[in-house]
Amino acid sequence: MNYQVAIIGGGPAGYTAAEKAGKAGLSVILFEKEKIGGVCLNEGCIPTKTLLYSAKIYQQALESRHYAITIPEVSFDLKRMVARKNKTVRKLTLGVNNKLKLANVTLVEGTAEVIDAHTICCNEETYSFENLLICTGSTSIVPPIKGLDSIQYWTHKEALDVKELPQSLAIIGGGVIGMEFASLFNSLGVEVTVIERMSELLGSMDKELTARLREEYEKRKLTYLLDTEVTAVNAIEEDKIQVHYKQGDEENSLTASQLLLSVGRKPQLAKLGLDRLNFKRTNRGFIEVNKQLQSSYANIYICGDANGKSLLAHTAIREAEVAIHTILSKPDEMSYRAIPSVIYTNPEFAGVGETEESLQEQNVNYKKVAIPLAYSGRFTAENERVNGICKLLFSEDKTLIGAHVLGNPASEIITLAGMAIELKLKAEEWGKIIFPHPTVGEIFKEALQ
Ligand SMILES: Cc1cc2nc3c(=O)[nH]c(=O)nc-3n(C[C@H](O)[C@H](O)[C@H](O)COP(=O)(O)OP(=O)(O)OC[C@H]3O[C@@H](n4cnc5c(N)ncnc54)[C@H](O)[C@@H]3O)c2cc1C
Repeated sequence: MNYQVAIIGGGPAGYTAAEKAGKAGLSVILFEKEKIGGVCLNEGCIPTKTLLYSAKIYQQALESRHYAITIPEVSFDLKRMVARKNKTVRKLTLGVNNKLKLANVTLVEGTAEVIDAHTICCNEETYSFENLLICTGSTSIVPPIKGLDSIQYWTHKEALDVKELPQSLAIIGGGVIGMEFASLFNSLGVEVTVIERMSELLGSMDKELTARLREEYEKRKLTYLLDTEVTAVNAIEEDKIQVHYKQGDEENSLTASQLLLSVGRKPQLAKLGLDRLNFKRTNRGFIEVNKQLQSSYANIYICGDANGKSLLAHTAIREAEVAIHTILSKPDEMSYRAIPSVIYTNPEFAGVGETEESLQEQNVNYKKVAIPLAYSGRFTAENERVNGICKLLFSEDKTLIGAHVLGNPASEIITLAGMAIELKLKAEEWGKIIFPHPTVGEIFKEALQ
């Protein structure tokens, strides 16, 4: 059978595209080799946030006295926390499956392979298509560390299904995923050490706010080794791992009960049959796509983590929308100007647009406004003993070009700044918007004064 749209991969990019195309009346076939929902729903965004929320409630209960609440005994049940996480994942994946059914999407369980620019093979059946969306996501990078293959280490998958808390945990990689797990296990009382080869955590996030977040966790006894390269690992006892590292010229080691690897992710494009086609590639080796997500084959789109551009679920969703709009001949194009990045630590940290570092690198002049979140009545009412900060960056003509917030609920309010950046609003125009009072989002209005 010939389908107007074939999609490989049922993560945020794939399921969004399938539902949208199906609802628009196109015939759609979706191939998924594991579980609908992809990494995000099954082993990424949703499970991490569900566990982090339990940890946050636990922390709040421990600190309840600051809110004039007495809770005599506070404890947590790890098994039930993980069960609750599994239930949340089931509920959401079921919801996605139902949406796909309602949109008349044909779902095929199996590993799909591209045969040519109009044919796919899956479970020994061939299917032809007019348009193909490759939404195969990404996989964890496993660095070439000596001894890694002879020890039992965790990736995010094992960490999410933790059965028993380790006494201590060494995390290789202080990026977003590493820091969210650091926050989770630190909140639950595990001794956590984060080892990062760069001079600061969290990659391209605003450096000043990242340092503040790091200091906040240092107060909570989280240990960091920055500018540190792990060179080798080995098991020393049944439940002890020795991690050897190099800091400048000095070599040292630490021991931990468990090791979590989180050094990043890379597009998953292997074993897809793509070498049968001749895609144009970027200098990083990714498949080149235009603003409509079309590859050098105009009927083949690469969306989500698979194109290596952003590796975030919300980017994947928007890219899928753009691709389907293009197939439907509705003019649309992808913009990467205002993609929010959020770290769901406690406090949360979110940023969108340019950072001071990125502007300095481009030699762009900018104006900075930074104010404490305590200027927001709602923040002060709800956040005892924690400081927060909001930083806005403007171009010389006072257009908002970057926004960075450390403090709860940064994840929820950052979209306000993202909208202003995407719409290229000037400070004066944004300031005319009415924000409900009292909300933490009012901090932006305050910073615009
Ligand atoms: C621990 C963790 C936490 C994260 N937290 C966040 C977060 O808070 N916010 C955020 O925005 N992002 C987060 N991410 C990243 C997010 O999960 C990804 O950006 C998102 O899942 C990408 O969506 P996608 O549709 O491109 O790919 P995926 O979700 O990876 O889905 C791809 C799907 O394709 C399937 N597939 C691959 N090859 C084939 C084939 N040949 N045939 C059939 N099926 C195939 C796979 O089985 C998979 O289901 C997190 C990731 C991890 C690991």
